[in-house]
Amino acid sequence: MSSFIYLSIRSRTSEANLRGCPRRIVTVSSGIIRGQKATLAWTMSTIAYLSLGSNLGDREGHLRDAVARLESQGHVVAVSSFYETEPVEFANQPWFLNCAVAIETTKMATELLAGLLEIEGSMGRHRAQRKGPRLIDIDILLFGNAIIDSQELTVPHPAMHERRFVIEPLAEIAPEARHPVLAKTVRQLWDSLPPGQVVRRIAGPPMAR
Ligand code: ADP
Ligand code: MG
Repeated sequence: MSSFIYLSIRSRTSEANLRGCPRRIVTVSSGIIRGQKATLAWTMSTIAYLSLGSNLGDREGHLRDAVARLESQGHVVAVSSFYETEPVEFANQPWFLNCAVAIETTKMATELLAGLLEIEGSMGRHRAQRKGPRLIDIDILLFGNAIIDSQELTVPHPAMHERRFVIEPLAEIAPEARHPVLAKTVRQLWDSLPPGQVVRRIAGPPMAR
């Protein structure tokens, strides 16, 4: 039996609202397979790397709570150990507990930022003092290889390569991830960190993922 397959491919990137969530969609359309019109559609996902920090109250509990809440923003694929770190910039405050997280998300970067700010707010973060003590802070370090410089969002995070408390946890889960502006891997950024800031890995296994 002979079959006739005709497929003309047009690729387009668009946004759609799937079950109430805006998604980036790539569709390959206008296929006719055995007389049936076929449309293929799939969502695009991005691996984003986040830095989490807390220096108020139950710091470990806050990090664990935040990581659990991140599942609302995508799929958490890796979580680093927790690190106790000396505060920088505004030194007269309690030491931080920091970690890095890799999340696979279909959201756009601005949507992810909005989701992270919502998690911070729902956990009770109030912005009293710039660079001051915080119950939870969640920053976007890398978003795929995107370069973003808008009023609300800068990616890669502008200070990440200078901060041992960011790079050391990130190097644990993603040493080969690339900084798209500096064109260096996280391992290379780690190698060229300035000395000084104290960062201690807390013993014990990383969190369940
Ligand atoms: P910081 O993390 O610098 O100590 P905040 O957590 O209070 O300060 O964030 C202040 C604002 O920084 C956020 O409302 C957000 O709009 C902006 N911002 C810019 N780039 C980023 C980024 N890469 N990750 C998180 N927030 C960012
Ligand atoms: Mg922040």
